Amino acid sequence: MRVGIIGGGITGLALTHYLAEEGIDSTTFEASEEPGGVIQTRHVDGRVLEAGPQRMRKTPGVAELAEAAGVGDAFVEAGDEKLYVYADGKLGRAPLSVEEFFRTDLLSWTGKARLLAEVFTRPGMEQETARDLFVRKFGREAYEKFIGPLYGGIYGSDPAEMPAAYALDSLMEREEKAGSFLQAFRKRVGQGQKAPPASMERGMQQLPNAVAETYRDRIELSTPVTDIEPVDGPETAFRVETDSGTEEFDHVVCTTPASVTADLLDGITTGIDDLDSLRYNPLALVYLEADLDREGFGYQVGYGEDLHTLGASWNASMFDRDGVYTVFLGGMHEPELVEQSDERLIEIAREEFETVTGADSSAIDVARLDPGFPAWDQSWWALEDVETPEGVDLATNYTARMGIPSRVREARELADSLTGRVDQRGSESAASTDSSAATAQADD
Ligand SMILES: Cc1cc2nc3c(=O)[nH]c(=O)nc-3n(C[C@H](O)[C@H](O)[C@H](O)COP(=O)(O)OP(=O)(O)OC[C@H]3O[C@@H](n4cnc5c(N)ncnc54)[C@H](O)[C@@H]3O)c2cc1C
Repeated sequence: MRVGIIGGGITGLALTHYLAEEGIDSTTFEASEEPGGVIQTRHVDGRVLEAGPQRMRKTPGVAELAEAAGVGDAFVEAGDEKLYVYADGKLGRAPLSVEEFFRTDLLSWTGKARLLAEVFTRPGMEQETARDLFVRKFGREAYEKFIGPLYGGIYGSDPAEMPAAYALDSLMEREEKAGSFLQAFRKRVGQGQKAPPASMERGMQQLPNAVAETYRDRIELSTPVTDIEPVDGPETAFRVETDSGTEEFDHVVCTTPASVTADLLDGITTGIDDLDSLRYNPLALVYLEADLDREGFGYQVGYGEDLHTLGASWNASMFDRDGVYTVFLGGMHEPELVEQSDERLIEIAREEFETVTGADSSAIDVARLDPGFPAWDQSWWALEDVETPEGVDLATNYTARMGIPSRVREARELADSLTGRVDQRGSESAASTDSSAATAQADD
């Protein structure tokens, strides 16, 4: 079997690794001259600036991938996970365990008591939005003060626009097993499933760079795929077109953003226009240098605060990154803000960073992420109508969970399933060889 992988972000790269391990031939096509996709690190005046994810959980899968790429020693782990929410004009520590829910200064006593009532609520329902589910289970105060901002912040989205069926499916599965969200949460933390938050010495992109270097014979950078067409014949096969030529594969995996995938699979996938309608939330990042005497990972801005910024990552405190703080703007909250000039974005970021933290700052740089975060909003219902032909898989952050560990895990599962198909084909072709031998004998 030959597998064509479209996209050299972390999903495509992890899949390249797992297929190589299984001994399956593959080629990965990446449009950009650098690997990593949304994992993008800039080095400005010796400072490490992250334009995509600011950290990842060092799960066994992520650690194994780094080890295989020779950068297992390059992890830098963050200390104690402390996140804040800016609510009612001050920073409050966000609770990250069930015990902390009851100690947090973000909630009144009635708000805390309401959390306990979660065990008496009906299970999550697919048709409700993430906001309705959270409010129904934990009360409005907890939702507005920390659950909404922290959860929506992961996607730059508004939970009021996110269907539980897509955005909370795995959480609802865990709820079903554990009996309640709180129990599921307690179990997960209790079982030590929280791998340490980490980055790499040279920034997040060091991981995809190293994987791409390890498998350079299987990866073609600066090679955008322009079309994918089926090949006529008895076996399923696909022709992948690029500016430098055409290659044939038995199986194709698209890890590209939804609009690109819709373009590439036009004519061979049912409901492809629906795929094109998936919404992404644009994002601008302003990198500040500040002298802030606080420990933690950063903050999200609570709902109801009169601020434009969504939140900030405290890279300086998290990974000892030379006074660097990254402020996020745009998202579903104010997408048009991303179009503003760098000067205006810097002005807003500096002013609001000072409002929240009290610290003065100077600007280092500005970045914009295109296409940004998959929104996981109501446009995701369109996926119901999308059906790819046999031999084509979609594997990226709009079909399954977004986080880097989940991307690596999905790649491994896909490689396992492709290996299974190879084994099956092997036994089928052995069987067909036997029968053709029998036919040949009969013909003799
Ligand atoms: C701003 C932001 C912050 C995040 N923060 C975190 C975080 O803190 N922790 C965490 O775990 N996760 C985080 N995530 C999620 C995670 O980083 C992403 O879900 C994951 O990196 C996506 O990887 P991917 O390979 O599936 O897709 P992508 O990274 O989108 O890769 C797709 C690749 O396809 C390429 N491509 C596009 N068109 C073509 C073409 N025609 N031919 C060939 N190649 C093409 C692109 O150049 C790209 O390299 C964040 C995501 C974003 C956007």
